[in-house]
Amino acid sequence: MRITPPRLVVAIVATASAITLACSRPARLAADLVITNANIWTGNPLQPDAKAIAIIGDRIVEVGGADEIERWHGTATTVIDAGGRRLVPGFNDAHVHFVDGGRQLDSVDLKDAATQAEFARRIGERAKAKPGEWILGGDWDDQQWTPAQLPTRELIDDVTNGTPVFVARYDGHMGLANSAALGRAGITEQTPDPPGGAIVRDARGFPTGIFKDAAMDYITRVIPKMTAEQRLRAVKRALGHAASLGVTSVQDMNPSYDDVSAYADLANRGELTARIYAAPMETGWYDQAKLGLHRSFGSAWLRLGAVKGYADGSLGSTTAYFFEPYLDAPGTRGLLSDEMQDVDAMRTRLMAADHARLQLCIHAIGDAGISKILDLFGDIVRANGERDRRFRIEHAQHIAPKDFDRFAELKVIASVQPYHAIDDGRWAERRIGPERIRTTYAFRTLIDKGVRLALGTDWSVAPLNPMLTLYAATTRATLDGKNPGGWVPEQKITIQEAMAAYTSGPAFAEFQEAEKGTLARGKLADLVILSEDVFSIPAERIKDVRVLTTVVGGKVVHQGNP
Ligand SMILES: [Zn+2]
Repeated sequence: MRITPPRLVVAIVATASAITLACSRPARLAADLVITNANIWTGNPLQPDAKAIAIIGDRIVEVGGADEIERWHGTATTVIDAGGRRLVPGFNDAHVHFVDGGRQLDSVDLKDAATQAEFARRIGERAKAKPGEWILGGDWDDQQWTPAQLPTRELIDDVTNGTPVFVARYDGHMGLANSAALGRAGITEQTPDPPGGAIVRDARGFPTGIFKDAAMDYITRVIPKMTAEQRLRAVKRALGHAASLGVTSVQDMNPSYDDVSAYADLANRGELTARIYAAPMETGWYDQAKLGLHRSFGSAWLRLGAVKGYADGSLGSTTAYFFEPYLDAPGTRGLLSDEMQDVDAMRTRLMAADHARLQLCIHAIGDAGISKILDLFGDIVRANGERDRRFRIEHAQHIAPKDFDRFAELKVIASVQPYHAIDDGRWAERRIGPERIRTTYAFRTLIDKGVRLALGTDWSVAPLNPMLTLYAATTRATLDGKNPGGWVPEQKITIQEAMAAYTSGPAFAEFQEAEKGTLARGKLADLVILSEDVFSIPAERIKDVRVLTTVVGGKVVHQGNP
């Protein structure tokens, strides 16, 4: 990769403009940035391939061959020689938890703790380093332990003493608290399970320290709030991480209003390096509606106007809501979320939010959870009339065969995270059996039915790296290496489909397809240069591809080593 500063191209450009003038063309604007010698996948069906691109300000002014772009060179043009490498539109992650992600870059990392002993050791180390300060984050995964057993507070009490701990399972649907945290929250064996949540108890009825879904609130409500400074630091960490991975837009699910306010500050100061579409919790829909905010309201950097809701829990926590019981927990078929316990109230809120033209993004994972949300969406269309509203189901993991057609008819966008498939694929069949896994992470079926996909990661639940998501969608090779040919391989999608679903798909999902998602004249100049060509290398190598250059709004925000 070679970037030529403006001065060095002056001579060439002077000659070029002399020729241009000699041909009596009117003088043209010159580009601020030109990228030449690139192997461009534009994502634009009218012009799929190109070699060079010219940018003025934050917009693309031309995409084409070397000659067409040559004309845009001027005395102040910065030139990047892509060295023949693959250039694609910037990745748009349709589902992230941005501040959590940034915060976790700072906190204890339990994701690859391979044993319970290692899990306890790392927590103990952190407690020793910062005694008394809440230990949060974590991302532990009991499924990689032998036996795969949920941790208990006894495991960590001795190493943490009075330092309170509440570390989350990587899916965010349960957490482990130690006794110090239980004490602060006032939890005893008398504390009841809340609606939509569960406190795991031992044989004597005492809490083991595991809190599921809505029960997690018992602990989280006593955790001190992040300071404004901690929050800003988290956002900046997250932005830096995104830039290094070629993620130029994110759709942030359940940000707090403080998070949105931090984004607004950074947007005003011109310091955002990824574009953010924020979808706060649906229970607060009126906060946006009363201001007249509706879907995709805002600037190219920060938009509001969506709400995020929950139908159910997760597969890993056996709280995703199914029609039939879990195979390995036959006493349950999952839990509807707290908000869904009163379905009529949920319907009323979503209907009102839709009427105010807010976009609805609803988390639904189990087949019965998804089915119930499709019912609600149908009710909303009947009540509020047909309109381009782009309903979204977040995750859409386990779809009942009868519901694919409804998904398509209601034009619901499937906002899906392929990395979860190669992660859960290690153990999902034990939990839900051979029949239900056939329509699990059913990306192929969804596309074939005409459903639009928007890919994302659910970061920090899964890694933010788009290469891992492209790898997961195209190989479905589970993380344990046991399914090299793909887990439920008939649900694989092609790299072309995956790339589109990661660029134009999420742009459509946030009503921004006219602005971004493909590389074409007039669109925002958000693009990345890759270390290798994901379209021509074997799919199993995609996970090792790196992002060499990230450009957002015409500015280079990341430059890696070739
Ligand atoms: Zn999420």
